[in-house]
Amino acid sequence: MLIGETPATTAVIRSRRVVLPDGERPADVLIRDGRIEQIAEHGSLLAGDLHLTDLGDTALLPGLVDTHVHVNEPGRTEWEGFATATRAAAAGGVTTIIDMPLNSIPPTTTVDGLAAKRKIAADQAWVDLGFWGGAIPGNVADLEPLHREGVFGFKSFLAPSGVDEFPHVEQADLELALAEQARIGALAIIHAEDPAVLEAAPQQPGVHYRDFLASRPDDAEAAAVARLLDTARRTGARVHILHVSSAAVLPLLRQARADGVRVTAETCPHYLTLSAEEVPDGDTAFKCCPPIRDESNRDLLWAALADGEFIAVVSDHSPSTPDLKLLQKYGGSGDFAAAWGGIASLQIGLPAIWTEARKRGHSLSDVVRWMSSGPASLVGLTGTKGAIAVGYDADLVAFDPDGAFAVHAEQLHHRNPVTPYAGRTLSGNVLTTWLRGRVVDVDAEPFGRQLARS
Ligand SMILES: [Zn+2]
Repeated sequence: MLIGETPATTAVIRSRRVVLPDGERPADVLIRDGRIEQIAEHGSLLAGDLHLTDLGDTALLPGLVDTHVHVNEPGRTEWEGFATATRAAAAGGVTTIIDMPLNSIPPTTTVDGLAAKRKIAADQAWVDLGFWGGAIPGNVADLEPLHREGVFGFKSFLAPSGVDEFPHVEQADLELALAEQARIGALAIIHAEDPAVLEAAPQQPGVHYRDFLASRPDDAEAAAVARLLDTARRTGARVHILHVSSAAVLPLLRQARADGVRVTAETCPHYLTLSAEEVPDGDTAFKCCPPIRDESNRDLLWAALADGEFIAVVSDHSPSTPDLKLLQKYGGSGDFAAAWGGIASLQIGLPAIWTEARKRGHSLSDVVRWMSSGPASLVGLTGTKGAIAVGYDADLVAFDPDGAFAVHAEQLHHRNPVTPYAGRTLSGNVLTTWLRGRVVDVDAEPFGRQLARS
């Protein structure tokens, strides 16, 4: 049987570097009907009528699970849409994405909003995808119905989100939202910057990255996380801190965990691989909130990652059109204060992280824990996604860890040719991506599935 012809295939993928939950070793992976049926000794499954793909020394990883992607469709499809986002994901070895509830119009804050997204995503997804809901002021009554419909949890902002239709929660709204989520057993995911600290910070618009950085200080994250953890402690809600940029929050997380608060945290490739020192003035492709901080902070994030303090490294892929980024190369002002805040990196998160991880002595197994099994566990997909193990979906990536490539933004499948990685050379090439046992050919028909929290 040939992979790709019919969904019900039997095939073997052989590699001398299969990244399994207990480490890397040579193996044959037998796939039947889209699932991993057996993991056998390397070379032991003789072909016969099986379709064999021998990767040699190319590594075989489980597909990445990216739980933080802003697709923006419907409503702002010119920023990114399901077709372009999932194509970029597949090309980058990401086989599952969970879509954020904002920047699309409508946002995913009601069952109708969720239905609109599901409808438009159907038949144009190259990878599997699911949806986060949103908890905003006034929609507490919508949370339980959305939860029943299978959203993976609810996002709230503690500071303005950047779009009017997704307002941030004040403390009273946060209390209500977390109490309700504790009651229904939902996971609250939080953008943690404190609006009072942001307002008090010096605001100096312009092209100088240092001025932008000063406008979003470490304290904004630390104050917001402290307030959130206190609210989580009182309400009993399970909370997850999105895109930790500042190492100042790490001691707060440690203390809260020691106190029994149910809290997890994630960070992103741009915080781990880029630094404030290297952001050119006026290059707003680097603008995101919270911001990319300095090198010493980055080292502390890596130390925390190595210690298992982050459950996931996910993209926070949040693109916009080049004009809203105010990019100078497109005639924009390069003003960091006014530019859209968001980094586009969905397709290149794996090589970006691998480039830095191998320099710091980390293995492919570490990368898989941070970018595949960890995020899968965050959203309750362990058992199906995030590992090469018997019974799991055969979501797989052939990855050449010793390859390298130069990033050309216009060659990526993202809808808009803007990424701070443009011009960089990254280590590691994604050669082939399989979704449920079938090669994802991004020029053919999409066959991604919609997932719901079970
Ligand atoms: Zn985000």
